[in-house]
Amino acid sequence: MPPIPGAGLAKGLAVTLRTMTKKTVTAQYPDVQPELPPRSRGVIALFEENCTVCMLCARECPDWCIYIDSHKETVPAAAPGGRERSRNVLDRFAIDFSLCMYCGICIEVCPFDALFWSPEFEYAETDILELTHERDKLRDWMWTVPEPPALDPAAEEPKEIAAARKTAEKLRTQREQEAAAAATPPAPTDPAPTDSAPTDPAPTDPLPTDPTPTDEEGRT
Ligand code: SF4
Ligand code: SF4
Repeated sequence: MPPIPGAGLAKGLAVTLRTMTKKTVTAQYPDVQPELPPRSRGVIALFEENCTVCMLCARECPDWCIYIDSHKETVPAAAPGGRERSRNVLDRFAIDFSLCMYCGICIEVCPFDALFWSPEFEYAETDILELTHERDKLRDWMWTVPEPPALDPAAEEPKEIAAARKTAEKLRTQREQEAAAAATPPAPTDPAPTDSAPTDPAPTDPLPTDPTPTDEEGRT
C-alpha cells in the first residue's frame, strides 16, 4: 500500500497536540524535596560492625573505587585449652564516588550485609577529591538508609527469622523455669533421727595366749 502523503506530519502534530493538553509538572527542587522511590540509588552506606574485611566488594567493583586497608589481630582463646584465633581489623574503608557508576555490585556481593543503598543524593562537591567518602562519612550515611519494606504476610517465614524465633522462645522458656524455681520455697525436710538403738559392743576375740612352755616330762 503506497504511503499517504502528509500522514507522518499529521501523526507528529497529533503527538504535539496531545502533549500540549497535558498538565505540566515542574519539580520545585530544591524548595521541595522530591519523593524518591524507596530503592533509589543515592549513596552507599557502610555498617562497619558487619564488615569482616573479606575484600569481596573491592574485588568485584568494576571501577576499582573501593579502598580497604586492614591488619590482623590475634584473639585469645575463648576457653582454656582452646586455640588463639586471628581476625581482620578494618583500618580504612573508602569509596570514590567520582568513579563509582552506581551499579550496586558491591552491595549485592557483600555476604555480611555491611553495605546499603541510601537515597541521599545531595553530596555534590566543588573539589573532586571530596567525593572520596571515608569510613566515618560512609558510616554516617547509615542513618539515612530507609527501613526495609515489610514482609508479605502470605510469604513463607524466612529461615533466619524462624531460627531466631525458636532460639528466643527456648531462652524465654528457660528463663521462666529458672525464675519459677527461684520463687518456690524449699520443701521442709524431716529432722534426722537422733536416738538410735543401742548397739552391743562388738564381741572381741580374746587374744590367743601362748601356751606355757613345758618340758619333756610335762612339768611346768
Ligand atoms: S556501586 Fe558499583 S562502581 Fe560503585 S562502588 Fe559499588 S561496585 Fe563499585
Ligand atoms: S564485601 Fe562486605 S564484609 Fe566484605 S569487605 Fe566488603 S563490606 Fe566488608
